[in-house]
Amino acid sequence: MNTLKTIRSMACVLLASALLSGVAFAEGATKIIPGPKGGRMLTKAAPHAEFFVEKDRKVAVTFYGADLKPVASAEQVVTVIAEAKAGKVKLDMEKKSEGFVSKQPLPEGSKYQVVVQIREKATAKPVNSRILFNDEPCAECHRAEYACTCDDAH
Ligand SMILES: [Zn+2]
Repeated sequence: MNTLKTIRSMACVLLASALLSGVAFAEGATKIIPGPKGGRMLTKAAPHAEFFVEKDRKVAVTFYGADLKPVASAEQVVTVIAEAKAGKVKLDMEKKSEGFVSKQPLPEGSKYQVVVQIREKATAKPVNSRILFNDEPCAECHRAEYACTCDDAH
């Protein structure tokens, strides 16, 4: 009787942990990480990169470790192309201690695509992220729409 109980409770623990890890995995896959500066996280795993538009509309791309603390940019090469309605503009990115900041502001207007291309180093394959730039605040999370962390995509 006691043995049976033990087996049953062991099975219970195993099932529970399987369920828990399943849930954790699902959350990890869909959870939106809010950018620490208020921008949009381009990555789901560390090293993280955040796309943030400063008050003067300059684009900052900041790198973070798994603990979401800024990390020094190493050999990364970052390219930002704004696909504004008036035409495509490639921004010159200046290397800072914790990422890159554009020399020019984003072009006039809102609701256009911005392509952020990150290479781990000059010879690496680029990883592209496309962001719909919209700086209107979201009514729910109060972040800019491009950095919105609400579950439903607007
Ligand atoms: Zn939102």
